[in-house]
Amino acid sequence: MKGFCGKIKGEAQKSGKLLYAPNRIKKLILIMAKAIIKSYKFRLQPSKAISAKLESTLNLCRELYNAALQERRDAYRLNHISINYYVQANQLPEIKQTNPEYKTVHSQILQNTLRRLDITFKKFFDRRKRKAQAGFPRFKAQKQYNSFCFPQSGFKLLGNKVDLLKIGTIKVKLSRQIVGKIKTCTIKKEIDKWFVIFDVEALPKPLPQTGKSIGLDMGISAFTTFSDGTRIDNFQFRESAQKRIRVAQRRIARRKKGSSGYRKAVTLFRKIHQKIKNQRNDFQHKVSTQIVKDYDLICIEKLSVLALSRGMLGKQINDVAFGNFFTKLKYKAESANKSVIEVNPAYTSQDCSACGERVKKDLSVRVHNCLKCGLVLDRDHNAAINILALGLSVSALTQTIRL
Ligand SMILES: [Zn+2]
Repeated sequence: MKGFCGKIKGEAQKSGKLLYAPNRIKKLILIMAKAIIKSYKFRLQPSKAISAKLESTLNLCRELYNAALQERRDAYRLNHISINYYVQANQLPEIKQTNPEYKTVHSQILQNTLRRLDITFKKFFDRRKRKAQAGFPRFKAQKQYNSFCFPQSGFKLLGNKVDLLKIGTIKVKLSRQIVGKIKTCTIKKEIDKWFVIFDVEALPKPLPQTGKSIGLDMGISAFTTFSDGTRIDNFQFRESAQKRIRVAQRRIARRKKGSSGYRKAVTLFRKIHQKIKNQRNDFQHKVSTQIVKDYDLICIEKLSVLALSRGMLGKQINDVAFGNFFTKLKYKAESANKSVIEVNPAYTSQDCSACGERVKKDLSVRVHNCLKCGLVLDRDHNAAINILALGLSVSALTQTIRL
């Protein structure tokens, strides 16, 4: 990669003011507020020749990503300047001259690759500003870089076939009908299978109001406990899957590193992981859909403070899962014209939901037992009632302000 070299400093200073365009961003937010972006993911069935093209596009994007990252790292380390997206995108024509293989990739895909890096850096600087833990953006290995995106054009969906510019026509397993206007098209590789993800702009579809509110306490033993006492267990695949993971791990350990048997064992291991990931995703989709259908107001804990308030014990792994679940809840609620309220989880598991007395207990104490008012309740159920009460008070407050 020769593209990203020289003339860095001058250009970075020149185009520095392009970085933020507040008016444009404001307009964009206004437009986005009306419509909702929904994702549709379908399996692709490419021919061998097309698979090779997809693979080569993905590889070129990854190389570009890593080269652009290298340029940003060097500029930051050597000259203490940060290079923005525009400086890097302006180099694309030159890169195509020196590396003709890049002419085989639609230019919007290449621009999008640089955008991704830009977003990664913005997040990194954001986290650092907030003094949160922030690792410098890393180079992507083949396994970690698994998708590229047509952000505007270069793709067409005709019947059950998608036509990709400079790649070709691929059969799509359309498992459901797309409703709305397709905005972007992402091609993703999951181990040895290819998928297409369409981001579609759709109008919100309000669900009937039920007049009911609920508080959710996310937990370790149960996935979530409702303020009405309902418990949703963690998805059941876990134990059987863990067993399969152990078997796969042992197989890898037995085989000689670098041999074809070893590679096969690694692929099998990754496939099991992917399957669990998909199953967990399905589980979260089902639960979140049902909750949004049943309740108008959904009160959850604010995740950023959750870890701090509860101690780290075994929570870290779950925090990611909770975050993904909350994301699903929020966008589904938004689309259905329902509300999600995040409350500060401090003391929700300590305070008595009946009288407010603070009953201190560590994580091993599973039952809330209030000596003041005599309430005896499952610990998570008590917490969920507190979360609901907090959410309702926040909701009442915002309504008064609106009036
Ligand atoms: Zn009490």
